[in-house]
Amino acid sequence: MFKALLDFVFPTACAVCDVPPSPLCEGCAPAFDVAQSWLGTTPVWYATEYSEPISRIFRAYKDQNRTALVTYLAPGLKLAVAKGALVLGECWICLPPRNRVNFKKRGFDPVSRLITGSDKPVLGQLPSNTLRFHRQVRDQRRLNKPGRESNILGSMTAIPGSKRVLLVDDVMTTGSTLKECTRALSAAGYEVAGICVLAKRNL
Ligand SMILES: [Zn+2]
Repeated sequence: MFKALLDFVFPTACAVCDVPPSPLCEGCAPAFDVAQSWLGTTPVWYATEYSEPISRIFRAYKDQNRTALVTYLAPGLKLAVAKGALVLGECWICLPPRNRVNFKKRGFDPVSRLITGSDKPVLGQLPSNTLRFHRQVRDQRRLNKPGRESNILGSMTAIPGSKRVLLVDDVMTTGSTLKECTRALSAAGYEVAGICVLAKRNL
């Protein structure tokens, strides 16, 4: 019991295979190779598929506060954003609105930290309050696809603007959050030119 608690507070093992060293052993460190797909008519660049090892790294990073893992994840997001920026030209980065309950629980914003952890931002970034929730939503990860869509659809609003935007997020699973971001930004006058994520689940 005490050992389990100690491991939780001061992890000594790899987040994927549970063998030292922490936070990741050499064999479990992720490799990235940017690929492109689509969400509706919007191009999506992603650095890796959302495989079981990657999902373990994300759970450790986001839910167990193993923030040292940012060093292994940030380069992937940086690659995806660089590729999107290369194809699209000048854009402004916009992040999905932060879920207040999760932020309180974690004490940090995992997506912002991935971006700031990847050297200097590649491009300008829109103010963090550009996109926001105007009603409460549940944690998407606890819901199935239809549940996610009805949970998030129509939940966001954006400060009016007209800039070209590159949406950046950590993981795309069903795409319903990023679809709602695109809808709210487009309704407020922005042009969502592309989406960059670190990992994408290929359904
Ligand atoms: Zn390992």
